[in-house]
Amino acid sequence: MTRTADVVVIGGGVTGVSLAFHLTGLGVERVRVLERRFLAAGGTGRSVGIIRQLYPTPETSAMVLRSLRVFQRFGETVGGEAGYVGCGALIGVSPAMRPKLEATLGVQRALGIRAELLEPEDVARVEPRIDPEGLGAVLYEPESGYGDPTAVTLGYADAARRGGAVIEQGAEVVAIHQASGRVTGVTIAGGERVDAPVVVNAAGLWSPAVARLAGVELPIVIGRHPVFVVERDPGFGAPHLVYLDLAGGSYARPETGNLTLTGSLTDDEAEHPMDPELLGSDASFEEASAILERTGRALPRLAEARYRRGYAGAFDITPDWMPILDESPVRGFYIAAGMSGHGFKLAPAVGELMAARIAGTTPPVSLSPFALGRFKATAVAGTFVASYLR
Ligand SMILES: Cc1cc2nc3c(=O)[nH]c(=O)nc-3n(C[C@H](O)[C@H](O)[C@H](O)COP(=O)(O)OP(=O)(O)OC[C@H]3O[C@@H](n4cnc5c(N)ncnc54)[C@H](O)[C@@H]3O)c2cc1C
Repeated sequence: MTRTADVVVIGGGVTGVSLAFHLTGLGVERVRVLERRFLAAGGTGRSVGIIRQLYPTPETSAMVLRSLRVFQRFGETVGGEAGYVGCGALIGVSPAMRPKLEATLGVQRALGIRAELLEPEDVARVEPRIDPEGLGAVLYEPESGYGDPTAVTLGYADAARRGGAVIEQGAEVVAIHQASGRVTGVTIAGGERVDAPVVVNAAGLWSPAVARLAGVELPIVIGRHPVFVVERDPGFGAPHLVYLDLAGGSYARPETGNLTLTGSLTDDEAEHPMDPELLGSDASFEEASAILERTGRALPRLAEARYRRGYAGAFDITPDWMPILDESPVRGFYIAAGMSGHGFKLAPAVGELMAARIAGTTPPVSLSPFALGRFKATAVAGTFVASYLR
């Protein structure tokens, strides 16, 4: 059996459903999202969900600000729950990183992002449980915090359905068809074909494999990023703010039930390629120890927190740790992937901008920094920290 669509979106993570929602908003009538398992089954469902605003370029800063405004009013603008908690985020940098932080802040302030540079000794004013030892400065973002990536995905999916999109779960794309250099449709496992003049690869951790179905090579490495869950002791007090310690190499974000999610911020994911099928598998306690030690140095009150569990997450990493948001060399076959560990907080803007591009309207933020052709080499050369600072 063959069906037709105006746009097929491959992948029901936060990127794919945000795109579907925005396409319906632009009047694209027959949008079909094909998800091989279930909504948020990929990186989205394992995400830590931190929303920070420190980004190194005007485009990424503008995107994160547009996205933040959506998370803050998700119920009204999309519908459903985003789980947004605007507890504030602090970003600690080393003395050597401070000049870059100041330069980045200059760009951000001009765009309307609220952020304050704190001297290390003043951080106690905002979060007294951070150890300022060894820091050169701390950036305080009062509007940042975290959200619930699965809830956001379900909210976008419901809103897309209300706009007329069809979302199929358990529908794995196994072939992408083309004729004369143009995409013509896809085949789903089981043999059903969906003809469409536009197909979007929003397959996150599987995006390189999906691109290969169309003969397109993406410069994306799937790199392991384990997450650890610890339980704060009853005397800890109110939940801590989100803390990203770029100097010491760890982060901590509060979770309900007295829990804290923590992980590494040392840029080494690209050196640990991972089969995306291992997503969610157990992470060892040995692996946890090194990271928990860094978290305990950054927030000493967490040093004694009870270890609950750890699991393997992964990032789809491009050479410069920035997304690919572009049409591929196969006309009509678009790429919205390579989110490099920040695809949750950018998802509202990514969907909005890609939908505009596909529908032929002018995106409100330039997509040229995210062109597929920008890479001279395919090896990961940049760093995750460079995705914060200029
Ligand atoms: C551990 C971890 C922590 C993170 N922390 C943060 C954070 O704090 N802040 C932040 O902003 N971002 C964070 N991220 C990154 C962010 O969560 C991801 O970039 C984002 O969720 C990716 O969404 P996506 O929709 O692009 O991809 P995915 O969520 O991976 O979705 C891709 C989907 O495509 C489907 N699929 C694959 N192949 C096929 C096929 N052939 N046919 C049909 N469907 C297919 C998959 O089943 C999957 O559901 C984190 C990610 C992880 C893993």
